[in-house]
Amino acid sequence: MNIILLGAPGSGKGTLSEFLCEKKTFTQLSTGDLFRDNISNKTDLGLRAQEFINKGKLVPDSVTNSMVEMYLNNKKKDLIFDGFPRTDDQALALDDMLKNLKEKIDQVVYLDIDESTLMGRLTGRMICQICKRSYHKINRKPLKEGICDFDNGTLVVRPDDQEDKIKIRLEAYHNQTAPLIKFYKDKIIKVDANCSPVELYNRVEKILGS
Ligand code: AMP
Repeated sequence: MNIILLGAPGSGKGTLSEFLCEKKTFTQLSTGDLFRDNISNKTDLGLRAQEFINKGKLVPDSVTNSMVEMYLNNKKKDLIFDGFPRTDDQALALDDMLKNLKEKIDQVVYLDIDESTLMGRLTGRMICQICKRSYHKINRKPLKEGICDFDNGTLVVRPDDQEDKIKIRLEAYHNQTAPLIKFYKDKIIKVDANCSPVELYNRVEKILGS
């Protein structure tokens, strides 16, 4: 089963993917994480993507689509698409890629969240440099300050989690990504994401079944 998680930055896609991968047999495909890995490894793709990411803008479709296509050569099923697709062009490209692999998207889970919650979530966020787990300075504190509970990795604030960048990212979400709700109208399931990560997982698990 392949699932897309669709929702604004800060709606809980990353943490929900973490839980789904821990408790079920999914693998998370996070384009944001893949870009960040490429940036830390200073690859050509990372260098191209970095200028867009640091401004809060979307990376061009051609770059993003080829990165996903490469990923799908190794792992093609039981995927959770976290942060991809984010544009019509990406959604069409994903359809083609999956058709070639005789796979498909089974469900699209739309995390519906109040805009007023997002800014607080994103400005307090910290990410483990090693496993990419997400923490929050108020809502999801690590046991030891600045250190990941799972692998002792250092927690860092993402450069694009600054208020001015968040505004640009939310604009990109509204203009380019939210229209995908219509694109996937036959497969979409809307979930109220104004809740804790555990509650969100429970809500989604009920929908997906065992
Ligand atoms: P995320 O970790 O999903 O919040 O993504 C962080 C940033 O990576 C985004 O703000 C974009 O700059 C870039 N990015 C991630 N996924 C995509 C995508 N599907 N298309 C274009 N840019 C993306």
